[in-house]
Amino acid sequence: MSKNSRLVFLPLGGTGEIGMNMNLYGYGNEIDDMKWLIVDVGITFGDDTTPGVDVILPDHEFIKERKENLQGIIITHAHEDHVGGLAYLWPDLKCPIYATAFTASIIRLKFEERGINIEDKLNIVDLSSEIQIKPFDIKFQTLTHSIPEPNSLFIKTKLGTIYHTGDWKIDDNPIVGESIDFNQLKENSEEVLAMVCDSTNVLTSGRSGSESTVRGNLAGVIKKLKIEFSLLHSLQMLRD
Ligand SMILES: [Zn+2]
Repeated sequence: MSKNSRLVFLPLGGTGEIGMNMNLYGYGNEIDDMKWLIVDVGITFGDDTTPGVDVILPDHEFIKERKENLQGIIITHAHEDHVGGLAYLWPDLKCPIYATAFTASIIRLKFEERGINIEDKLNIVDLSSEIQIKPFDIKFQTLTHSIPEPNSLFIKTKLGTIYHTGDWKIDDNPIVGESIDFNQLKENSEEVLAMVCDSTNVLTSGRSGSESTVRGNLAGVIKKLKIEFSLLHSLQMLRD
């Protein structure tokens, strides 16, 4: 480590806004010599303020110009605001991609849709394992969210560790996957310099409900629809 080494966090999308997450970490002396890691490449969707626009991508020009120093892309989980931009922007970057199995299967489909074979560049990471994307050492830790395999990352460098979460909530009763392993979280967090986290409505006090509550409510709604459907069906039978 040179005494001028710096660790840089550079969000190209998703900070202070919903969607379109694209975060860069850089390590080195000067910006143009740094080695870069991308965490997530998401999209956001157009609304009334962007007539005629369906999908909005992050502006990746900065990293496209430095792609020879780009070491890899990690996708934390398979929601569109974290993975949806990858198949659009990767052809300009062409670096290895890292994700756990469920997310990797979604990535594969998205590249297939665009006619790109990504097998050679797609690396499947085991849950709670550690990988090296020089000069970064990355430890995966599974959290809970509304999709399988929501991974957070302990990004270790010689200057210290950043804890990057993707988005998450604390769900004590998740439908898919395990509850958060708080002992492991505590152990991994010992030397963390900063936490870069993403949790919608984080500034609202109180707790988010469990996904299992959503399942109960959804089942109730669908059950009711079935009754209405059978009533409709009976009425049609009477009419016919
Ligand atoms: Zn998400």
